[in-house]
Amino acid sequence: MIRAVPHVAALAPYALADLGGEGVISLAQNESAFAASPAAIAAGKAVLEQMPLYPDPEWPELRAAVAEVHSLDPVKVLCGAGSMELIGCLIRAFAGPGDRVLGTDYGYAFVASASAQVQADYVKARERELTVSVDDILAAVTSETRIVFVCNPGNPTGTLIPNAEILRLRAGLPADVLLVVDQAYAEFADADNDPGEIFALAERGDTVVLRTLSKAFGLAGARAGWGYFPPEIAGEVRKLLNPNNISIPSQAMAAAAMRDQVHMQDVVAKAAAIRDGFAEGCRALGLTVPQSHTNFVLIRFASPEQAQAADAALREQKLLMRGMGGYGLGDCLRATICSQPVMDRALAVLKGVVK
Ligand SMILES: *Cc1c(COP(=O)(O)O)cnc(C)c1O
Repeated sequence: MIRAVPHVAALAPYALADLGGEGVISLAQNESAFAASPAAIAAGKAVLEQMPLYPDPEWPELRAAVAEVHSLDPVKVLCGAGSMELIGCLIRAFAGPGDRVLGTDYGYAFVASASAQVQADYVKARERELTVSVDDILAAVTSETRIVFVCNPGNPTGTLIPNAEILRLRAGLPADVLLVVDQAYAEFADADNDPGEIFALAERGDTVVLRTLSKAFGLAGARAGWGYFPPEIAGEVRKLLNPNNISIPSQAMAAAAMRDQVHMQDVVAKAAAIRDGFAEGCRALGLTVPQSHTNFVLIRFASPEQAQAADAALREQKLLMRGMGGYGLGDCLRATICSQPVMDRALAVLKGVVK
């Protein structure tokens, strides 16, 4: 028998979303309900004949686009096959057996799994009212803590803490603890929360900010994420990235999508309007929905049984939300915002369950 090394044999497979099968509409993976910018699709098509070549390992167009849009130094931008690749490499570079990686109650599940891959202990600080609590994170730091991950806006909660809280967190952390701010949904909150204040933290040398093309830009299928890194951190992470990690069409699409901020902002505004209407509809049924700053909402039912009944009724109508039992939120379902007609159908199903 061929045996994996013990810590890998002990891992559970990563819990991907159930896709529900034929004809099911997924509201389970926070994918965009809207197509990527037409300029991005054209840019992808235009490079298909370059496929005999390896992609550029320096992502020059994507880096330049990111740097221009956000007024950043392109040298400090690293790109990954999704921000997941960057998260995995950060953990492999800065945590090892017995080290602690500190997240929060409802932090991103992939961080736990990437920590287990390197035999680091993933520990969660308490959240308050489904919202990240800086005081609880600071209280949970020990001498073993190497990395702190904060997702803002949060997934699966959708809640947001102000930039000032992130700055207070950084100021309160020891200098040898790396802070990673995962901003996978930041485009849904940038209008109220100056992104420059968070990117500026990278200048300190101890903080990384991650973003992705997978959500607001409608390019989850392209696998393109990026981060703003202090040079020393970037140097270590780069050793662990797959060389040529983002395909030629994906780099072209991501760069063009990044440059089409008008399309992205239009999508964000449309999704937010549908989201807020759906959330109000849920609240009118007596369900609890925290104000979301993302393209999904967390719906809290009266009990885990009611959440299960809703899940079953939705599946019957070929609609699939994401169960939250893995986060200890068995009384919740997370719903990605889809088109208005789909959300109307979903609300009608919930009405039937809750009534
Ligand atoms: C979707 C998501 C990501 C980004 O994933 P990609 O690998 O870039 O597709 C990162 N963090 C959180 C919290 C997410 O929800």
